[in-house]
Amino acid sequence: MSFSTLKLHPALIRGVDKLGFQHPSPIQSKAIPPALEGRDLLACAVTGSGKTAAFLLPILHQLVDQPRGTTRALVLAPTRELACQIRDDLNALAQFTGLKSVVVHGGVAMGPQKTAFQRGTDVIIATPGRLLDHFQYHYAALSGLEYLVLDEADRMLDMGFLPDIRRVLKHVPKPKQIFFFSATMPAPIERLTKEILKKPVRITLQRKAAPAEGISHAAYPVLAKQRGALLVELLRRGHINDALVFTRTKHRANRLTRMLNHNGIYSERIHGNRSQPQRTKALAGFKSGKFRVLVATDIAARGIDIEALGHVVNFDVPAAPEDYIHRVGRTARAEATGEALTLVMPESERDLGGIERALGLTIPRIRLEGFAYDVGSGAPPPENAKRSTAKSRNAKRSTAKSRNGSAESKNRPRRRRYGKP
Ligand code: AMP
Repeated sequence: MSFSTLKLHPALIRGVDKLGFQHPSPIQSKAIPPALEGRDLLACAVTGSGKTAAFLLPILHQLVDQPRGTTRALVLAPTRELACQIRDDLNALAQFTGLKSVVVHGGVAMGPQKTAFQRGTDVIIATPGRLLDHFQYHYAALSGLEYLVLDEADRMLDMGFLPDIRRVLKHVPKPKQIFFFSATMPAPIERLTKEILKKPVRITLQRKAAPAEGISHAAYPVLAKQRGALLVELLRRGHINDALVFTRTKHRANRLTRMLNHNGIYSERIHGNRSQPQRTKALAGFKSGKFRVLVATDIAARGIDIEALGHVVNFDVPAAPEDYIHRVGRTARAEATGEALTLVMPESERDLGGIERALGLTIPRIRLEGFAYDVGSGAPPPENAKRSTAKSRNAKRSTAKSRNGSAESKNRPRRRRYGKP
């Protein structure tokens, strides 16, 4: 199937061509035709599947010949990064249409966002908290709203945004069409879909969520105190050009970034305690090649899109299978290939086993000489690892002062709730 068979507006076909998309991805070929017929969508699609264009293209198609000056579409996303990514995708797809969008999220001034409401910017892409802040004022009535998208609804649930979403739905006029996207369908999300969708077309790409094809998975057994040294070793071997490295906590992201820089590997970090300009700068530096490594917590990495990212490293085993999918979905975007490496300590083997079972994956263990622990031997770590970890211990001491003690930096139960982005 080609994009031209989808009967999209010629200006959008030009945009798609310019982006080099040759064929619609499976989610796009399933979602776009019913969306163009005016149907609501309920789509189970993992990140990396091309879901953003799957909801944006039909909306842009329906807006392109309409008079301007009214906000007709609202996209709700769980995090700033995802909201900005959707805006970037929209700008690229709509580049020949003249349609405009604006992102409304916290952490920046409200003034320019207010102007966007007042001007009736065609599409508003928002995180729920900041949107509700604007809803207190008459300028944010969104009375001409026709299209509503909920993207990554399961993540909004995880982050405690469900009440906010209900508030948003109460505030806006009943949309003509709703596009509901979620990687998984936990019960509260299923209930919400029943309440708000009108005979939706259900699109499920696979029975259970699974990481995108094209990703190869590997796990490196290692003791906790050798993890930093192992990461340095992997990065020094020359096989990994650049990598997005995930930690579970903000504090560990800070500490690891310090340690990597200390070892001559230029790195930056993004997490919930970093301001929007700091995050944008870190991401831009990583994309431009200034930093070889971007260390991120799950929440901050949500929605960031980096072309041709070859490697994702789980410095910590993620808390849940969905987190694994979201993390590794940062590599092998669309039709590319990538590698997901997980550093697994004896105490996190169980978690990784749970993820493998849930996703139907067998992740091969790669025992790197000098780093892998002998199961049950309790053998002391080898010399080279001891030397390298001394650096990370120094880094640990030097960053101890910057501990933030925030919720994200504490151990969490398996099902975590996050603060607002
Ligand atoms: P998403 O799942 O929306 O985050 O998209 C993942 C990546 O796939 C983004 O970098 C998109 O630009 C890219 N993409 C989306 N649709 C296509 C397509 N039909 N062909 C090639 N790449 C695509």
